[in-house]
Amino acid sequence: MPNSFTEAVMYVQVAVPVPMRQLFTYKLPANLQEPSINIGERVVVPFAGRQLVAVVIAISDSCEFDANKVKAIIARQQDEHSFSDAELKFLQQCANYYHHPIGDVISQALPVLLRQVDSVDIKKVEVWQACVNEQESSHKDENSLTDILAKLAKRSPKQAQLYKIICQHQGITWTELRALNYTKTQLNALADKQFIVAKELIPQAFAWQDKLLNSDDKHALTVEQALVVSSVTQKLTEFSCHLIEGITGSGKTEVYLQIMESVLAQNKQVLVLVPEIGLTPQTLSRFEKRFNLPIYLHHSGLNNSERLQTWLAAKQGSAAIIIGTRSAIFSPLINAGMIIVDEEHDGSLKQQDGFRYHGRDIAILRARQLNIPIVLGSATPSLETLHNALSGKYHHHQLLKRPGKSVEAKIELIDMAVQQVEQGLSASLVHEIAQTLARDEQVLIFLNRRGFAPAVSCQECHDIISCGRCNKPYTLHQGQRLLICHHCGSQKRVPRQCSQCGSVRLLPLGQGTEQLEQRLAEMFSEYSAVRIDRDSTRRKGELAKLLQEVSDKKHQLLIGTQMLAKGHHFPDVTLVAVLDVDGALFSYDFRASEQMAQLLTQVGGRAGRASKPGKVLVQTNYPQHPLLQDLVNNGYHHFAVQALSERKLALLPPHSYQVLFRAEANYPSYPEKFLRSLTEQALTGCAFAGPIPAAMEKKAGKYRFHLIIQAKQRRDLHRGIKQLLNNIKDNPWHNKVRWSLDVDPQDLSW
Ligand code: ADP
Ligand code: ZN
Ligand code: ZN
Repeated sequence: MPNSFTEAVMYVQVAVPVPMRQLFTYKLPANLQEPSINIGERVVVPFAGRQLVAVVIAISDSCEFDANKVKAIIARQQDEHSFSDAELKFLQQCANYYHHPIGDVISQALPVLLRQVDSVDIKKVEVWQACVNEQESSHKDENSLTDILAKLAKRSPKQAQLYKIICQHQGITWTELRALNYTKTQLNALADKQFIVAKELIPQAFAWQDKLLNSDDKHALTVEQALVVSSVTQKLTEFSCHLIEGITGSGKTEVYLQIMESVLAQNKQVLVLVPEIGLTPQTLSRFEKRFNLPIYLHHSGLNNSERLQTWLAAKQGSAAIIIGTRSAIFSPLINAGMIIVDEEHDGSLKQQDGFRYHGRDIAILRARQLNIPIVLGSATPSLETLHNALSGKYHHHQLLKRPGKSVEAKIELIDMAVQQVEQGLSASLVHEIAQTLARDEQVLIFLNRRGFAPAVSCQECHDIISCGRCNKPYTLHQGQRLLICHHCGSQKRVPRQCSQCGSVRLLPLGQGTEQLEQRLAEMFSEYSAVRIDRDSTRRKGELAKLLQEVSDKKHQLLIGTQMLAKGHHFPDVTLVAVLDVDGALFSYDFRASEQMAQLLTQVGGRAGRASKPGKVLVQTNYPQHPLLQDLVNNGYHHFAVQALSERKLALLPPHSYQVLFRAEANYPSYPEKFLRSLTEQALTGCAFAGPIPAAMEKKAGKYRFHLIIQAKQRRDLHRGIKQLLNNIKDNPWHNKVRWSLDVDPQDLSW
């Protein structure tokens, strides 16, 4: 019943998920004014002929536009999933820092199901529990149950392991069990035997009890570790940032676990960011083993409904621990106690398209806002973080020793100039591989190049078959008999003849993982070789399967790309070989050498254990290169300190700050002209580098250019970018190119 007396017109300003750097104003019709609307609510708005879910950022009773032209919101979602003021403030800070449209930032922080106009029906969370009482189980007699379990352990050890994990918990979800590499078949087998049952989880805030801690594999800390734990836990009630720089195997994970114990004991939630969950079930299982508390996951392997469950559990307080990849940082923790960023140097923490945030950096922002401690851990900290730790901005803790008897593998360089080399393998390396295999140990070989060969060339006219859209050689994938462009994905059959001279003598040039696998399988035919890269693990579950086969020692030779360097631990791998590091020594990207040092140190940490010391062999044409020498002789920390002083001399990050503008268009002159026009404005305290053609000058038919803006003070840089963005609408080129900006860019090889 419209009432003309009380009907004050109300307006809301909302963030809409579109790439525009502004808020939009809508009318709030009278029939939607009750109950009163709140900031952070989700509403449905008409936008460019579509209906979109937007979030209310401001409410007012007047409007600066012609009221007749302002559209009305269509509906209010009115559920419990609104953003809190603090969350919105955090997202606003992210948008400001990255100069990214707030609507898009907010939309990324929302689970997909809550971005939908239709209301979602939220699935109940189901957890698995061990059967304990007589109604649930057919095994009434305890002795017979023990017998059955003993038999189970013999017949299907995986099922027995799974049962043990379920017994240790009050309830564990299939999402977690799957991430621990168990299968539905194993789960169903236990359910059929009536060992376990599924129950609906009643969401309630978790409450700490000592019995929820499982101390079976808890270690007495070393002095080094104990110092770190006591220093971090000393003050849990306010913001502080800690770097734990600990060599591989120094017990960082144990330190995290014991720090977390103190936080959880106060009934506060812990958020743990990790580079990649599918790859590191071992780490996850250590968390699962230690704490019998609800742990929720957030990663790309979850479906939308599972992601929503994690989000809700964070918001309702039923999640004690959330372990996730980069975007887990947006989890709406109701009662946050601590954030941990494991492997803080890892490149996957940075989002490389759209909203290009760095998970670690906004984690620090978030911790500061929540006024809680944050712990960054790595064996090979990024130079940015190390700089902040050395300059006293962060608390710096070092773990220099391994608690057990095992020692770090030593890196040795193989000088390719004095070696007999056959298909990329030096004689020394082949010899070492043979010896390692003969000792019944495993070998891991890294080559960061997928496919069979990085190019196919004509033996007569030396033409290289290239992708016309990218001007780069096609990669040969022998298995599929295809040429695939790794830059734009286009593919074609391998031609019979050279398109330039008609010769049929077309041969592969160089070597990728596929060829290396074939070659090693021929050389060491009595052993089994397995390749682990993006191509071989495309099918769901394939990676887990291959990793399990490696653990079971079904394969002796492991060939892989960088993918294999992350987090795994293969105790029987005692030889790690890195085939090609030279590219990184002479890259135009100043971060390439840092990344190379991190990779070599991390893979070194994967090799060997106490009883079987490991070895890392690196093939290079430049064994005397000072960077390699420093790393080999003095270790990562020394290398990093050295690299920092070089960056200081060159005024490169972290001794300066950068923003990268990228632009692309169908004509080469457009992106260049657009970027050049940006440099015509004077920006106080900022310097321009470029525009220059991007490292990939042409990709998928588009021409690409770069412009770097650099400043000694972050404040100057932000003011400069703001000025550029304010004026960009008047720039005649800005509509003719696709452009984006990247604050603190990590990858200049775009
Ligand atoms: P990182 O995370 O630094 O690589 P981890 O926490 O995985 O190291 O520890 C490496 C190994 O040392 C693990 O097997 C772990 O169980 C063991 N460990 C850790 N802390 C201790 C300790 N205080 N005493 C004995 N063993 C330990
Ligand atoms: Zn030719
Ligand atoms: Zn291409």
